Amino acid sequence: MSDTRAAIHEATPEHIAISKSKGIIIDWKGGHQSSFDVVYLRDWCPCAGCTGSHGTTPRPKASASAPNPFQMFQPRLKMLAVEPVGNYAVRIEWSDGHNTGIYSWTHLRTVCPCESCQSGKA
Ligand SMILES: [Zn+2]
Ligand SMILES: [Zn+2]
Repeated sequence: MSDTRAAIHEATPEHIAISKSKGIIIDWKGGHQSSFDVVYLRDWCPCAGCTGSHGTTPRPKASASAPNPFQMFQPRLKMLAVEPVGNYAVRIEWSDGHNTGIYSWTHLRTVCPCESCQSGKA
């Protein structure tokens, strides 16, 4: 049994710290920590509307593109509510009105933005 393999498949949070204006930090069982910025979380919303899985245009990722000059007039993005969904996910309600994204632990673990997870996927 390999430790690396166990870590990848261990998508159960040990502890979750939520800051509605900053983001979510999850300590996973198995010792890994993921720190998600609000903009990053919004970008990785897994719902059909944002991912384009209903044939719509996927929502552009704000954190991956150059700042749009029009965006400086928008209020800073934050989370209005973070609700548990069963014991496998959280639903996030955003200040931009979006609230259909259900972030499963597996999804969050997969999109962990830390350097070792990002380089491991390359
Ligand atoms: Zn969405
Ligand atoms: Zn990571």
